[in-house]
Amino acid sequence: MLCHPAKQSEIDYREIMTPADSSLEIEQITVTAGGVTKSGEIKVRILSLPYRLFKTFGVALIWVFITIVNVLTPLLHFVTVPLSILATVYFTIKTFKVRKKISSGSAICPHCTQTFNTMTGSYKFPIKDTCTNCNKALVLNRP
Ligand SMILES: [Zn+2]
Repeated sequence: MLCHPAKQSEIDYREIMTPADSSLEIEQITVTAGGVTKSGEIKVRILSLPYRLFKTFGVALIWVFITIVNVLTPLLHFVTVPLSILATVYFTIKTFKVRKKISSGSAICPHCTQTFNTMTGSYKFPIKDTCTNCNKALVLNRP
């Protein structure tokens, strides 16, 4: 496939390069504040299984390292090592369960009726956010 050079510069490489082989979806959201509801849309990154396994392995490795360091602390290691092992299991499972992430988004603020950029990261609705223009509290939800 041939690509026109001018068109190639318009591609947002950050969305393609990271994370590996995950796909993007656009979803509609609602923004509520003070009984007024407006609409918006978010770009959701669906994380691939290899990427999730890679992230999970990284988190597990860090917690295993912390556990090994805790073995070296005198007397306190009777408490810190079991806690570190529990934390290793908890954070490993928690990391693996993340299937979607919000990579970007924009919506209309019910207060100032201007477009603002939504929070990125966690895909757990309802999301508490603030307007980047008027700094008022908003609640993002799925319709
Ligand atoms: Zn606003």
